[in-house]
Amino acid sequence: MNWLRKFMYGRYGSDQLSNAMLIISIIILVANVFLKIPQLSTVITIIILISYFRMFSKNINKRYQENMKFLKWWNPIKSKFNKTKMKAKQSKTHKFFKCPNCSQDIRVPKGKGRIKIRCPKCNEKFEGRT
Ligand SMILES: [Zn+2]
Repeated sequence: MNWLRKFMYGRYGSDQLSNAMLIISIIILVANVFLKIPQLSTVITIIILISYFRMFSKNINKRYQENMKFLKWWNPIKSKFNKTKMKAKQSKTHKFFKCPNCSQDIRVPKGKGRIKIRCPKCNEKFEGRT
């Protein structure tokens, strides 16, 4: 593996953006087994070429900026997804409310009937059924 280390020296390497690009190209590749759209293989090739170009690039600063831009766009989506996943996991024991004032998510144990809920963030009080 010494040659690889030598080759990658001073190069950018992989990051979240290139990982995402590879995952996307694999998804398109699998989807195209059913879709059979010839242009999609060109799209996959381009995505893979760009992600390899980024990995082997020596312009580390520019690649870093690209990744930051990607994360700025991706992180809110990811945290929304994680939130939904967490809610689904806890939906058996808890009910989730949104504060009508500041739209903060509030978690309340289920099976308490009609209760008064106080927002921990802005102290807004409202009623909800659990
Ligand atoms: Zn609130």
